[in-house]
Amino acid sequence: MILGDFTLEKRMSWHAEHGFTVTIGGGSVAGLCNAIALRKIGATVRIYERVPGPMMARGAGIVVQGELTRLLAENGAGALPRTSCQGRRYLDYDGGDGTLEEAPQDFTSWEAIHAALRAAVPDECYRAGSEVTAVTQTTSKVAATLVDGTIVESDLFLSADGSGSATRRRMLPDVAARYAGYVAWRGVLDERDVPGELLSFFHDRFTFSEARSGGHMLAYFIPGRDGAIAAGSRRLNWVWYVHVSPADLAGVLTDKNCTRHRSSIPRGALPDGAIAALKARAPREIHPKMAALVSETPDPFLQTIVDVRVPKTLFGRILLTGDAAFVVRPHTAGGTAKAAYEAASLARALNSARANVDVALLSAERQQLEYGNALYEYGLALGNRWLRDRRADQLDLARNEPTSKE
Ligand SMILES: Cc1cc2nc3c(=O)[nH]c(=O)nc-3n(C[C@H](O)[C@H](O)[C@H](O)COP(=O)(O)OP(=O)(O)OC[C@H]3O[C@@H](n4cnc5c(N)ncnc54)[C@H](O)[C@@H]3O)c2cc1C
Repeated sequence: MILGDFTLEKRMSWHAEHGFTVTIGGGSVAGLCNAIALRKIGATVRIYERVPGPMMARGAGIVVQGELTRLLAENGAGALPRTSCQGRRYLDYDGGDGTLEEAPQDFTSWEAIHAALRAAVPDECYRAGSEVTAVTQTTSKVAATLVDGTIVESDLFLSADGSGSATRRRMLPDVAARYAGYVAWRGVLDERDVPGELLSFFHDRFTFSEARSGGHMLAYFIPGRDGAIAAGSRRLNWVWYVHVSPADLAGVLTDKNCTRHRSSIPRGALPDGAIAALKARAPREIHPKMAALVSETPDPFLQTIVDVRVPKTLFGRILLTGDAAFVVRPHTAGGTAKAAYEAASLARALNSARANVDVALLSAERQQLEYGNALYEYGLALGNRWLRDRRADQLDLARNEPTSKE
């Protein structure tokens, strides 16, 4: 063990000794995962994030996966606050207590993941409000141009700029984000605002309800805004997947100020009419307890579900990572795990190849494509199972179908 650690420390020093530099465009989950893993092997890392202020209000619940917790533990980041449950409850839209299944699961929140990762990256390595506007390859260096005109040169550029990645669009103009045909309505309620009978119904369960005309809803407890996990200070998180035809999408993505969004509408920006329509629809579509949860939520928000699959992620010294590479369906609960896996395998490949950076990058790309393709396919299979339009077919749901990790 001691020998192993010693060997690792010696090998890690190659990147420090040779001043290996990495620029990361995008300071969310994928950017931060890569930053902590690459700093650990001695690379000098700089993250440039477009958003100027805090990024805490974005996401909601996340199912905890081993890839992420391992990355945090192995790179000196703090532990995630987690809630947990003993099993799942599957409900029918007509009502009843549903069926129970033993399946322990841990949950956290996007804010908690971001906070744990961000705390492990020193402030001097992270610049907020700094958009990367262009990336150019120059022999074995990459030059990233920032919005203020600064040019940052480094040995490697990681494009961690999310599902709408500008770098991906430049490198792979034929790869488009494809709308999957449904959206995720989401809501988060402070536990203290949830009526008692709903609290006890959702207690200790990861709860699912099929929806009458296709789609489904799920709910689970997540830590409170400050990471508190004691009963009474947690939050109840829900996601309801609903079919929206491509023709209706523009209307759904228009906020209360008539601004058209590309892929999501944040909390507080949905038109009152859209929230009222969602609440009116819920009792017709989903289990009454789920409908009550929707009804209790003052400020739901919305994300469209898109698919992105890439044939390659490496372009010289420019590497796509996280949602900038593959965007997998949320039913896999695997987006953050994929980001963590990619960061860990890149750091491992660079650490063992040392001076052979290009060999390491090819190896990282190979692993990324293998993992990304497998998760992408798995997500499609889950989406096809859960999101089929029940009015359009009567297929047997029970046979040989994949189980959602979500
Ligand atoms: C409904 C839903 C439920 C989900 N549930 C789960 C779950 O349970 N578990 C899970 O693991 N995953 C889940 N995911 C997926 C997960 O949220 C993503 O996979 C993950 O957050 C991707 O992180 P990212 O850093 O790659 O991208 P993003 O979080 O999109 O970050 C990209 C960052 O890049 C910045 N940026 C963009 N352009 C530039 C630029 N030019 N210069 C500088 N910065 C830039 C953006 O501001 C942003 O901060 C879910 C997704 C959805 C839609």
